Amino acid sequence: MNTPKLSINQKVPIDTSLSVSLFIKREDIIDTLISGNKYRKLFYNLKEAQEQNHSTLLTFGGAFSNHIAAVSACGNRNGLKTIGIIRGQELKAFETDNPTLSFAKRMGMDLHYISRSSYKLKGKAEFISGLRDQFGEFMLIPEGGTNELAVKGCEEILSPNDHLFDVICCPVGTGGTIAGLINSAKIHQQIIGYSAVKDRELNQVICKFVTADNWKLFPAECGGYGKIDRHLIDFINDFKRNYNIPLDPLYTGKMMYHLMRQIKDGEFPKGTSILAIHTGGLQGVSGMNWRLKQTELPQLL
Ligand SMILES: *Cc1c(COP(=O)(O)O)cnc(C)c1O
Repeated sequence: MNTPKLSINQKVPIDTSLSVSLFIKREDIIDTLISGNKYRKLFYNLKEAQEQNHSTLLTFGGAFSNHIAAVSACGNRNGLKTIGIIRGQELKAFETDNPTLSFAKRMGMDLHYISRSSYKLKGKAEFISGLRDQFGEFMLIPEGGTNELAVKGCEEILSPNDHLFDVICCPVGTGGTIAGLINSAKIHQQIIGYSAVKDRELNQVICKFVTADNWKLFPAECGGYGKIDRHLIDFINDFKRNYNIPLDPLYTGKMMYHLMRQIKDGEFPKGTSILAIHTGGLQGVSGMNWRLKQTELPQLL
């Protein structure tokens, strides 16, 4: 993979009466297939895989996982075989209908479906040695891709001029992205994470990778991971209409929904300059629309 380019900070022209300035860092457009933070998280992992002459990457994820999509495209582009262990045996039946899984398949990923109870064992040594017996040699990339090398990649999201912002916001899943931002931000800046998952251990995970304490996490919106409601759909669609910036329903949409509410409620001091990281994830929009078709809710634009 090429060294990721620095992405642009796009000004969001929010009402001046709100007395803060808001920019979005368009990490979603650094690559056409490997979006946003997943590019950063895979970059040094791929380098390591190549240096150690691995021929296969194995990883884990759910049915609509941005990480699964990214690993499959990364392997495809760099001539590595990829294996995806997917949570939920029932999903195999939907492989061709599910936009994420069918994309991964097209990228050449070998998809293996396991039960939700087996999936819980994915961190255990016996489980992993079972996978080695089954699939042979591979480099393991954890679910969501968070490890030391991923954090290192995410330390390159901010560019030198970004030290002029008072506040840096990002969505949080497994914590690797915010850890990288915390490590590369200046001590006078505040880093705010918007959790997309209900995970009580998230704070501890982040603390494993960082030493600074100028950060905080806000809990998940809309009832947790993968959940969506009409307010969020309307917000994402309005945001796209008003500012021409697409947001994904699981991470960046929820972050901006929460952040805009905080801005409107006057939670930031007058004059605060805010940089929100668009971590990508737009491949998830079609999967969400596929799910929304089975409900009364409107589609995402
Ligand atoms: C994976 C993902 C995240 C979460 O990143 P972590 O490093 O796991 O916290 C945030 N936004 C998008 C779009 C993602 O795909």
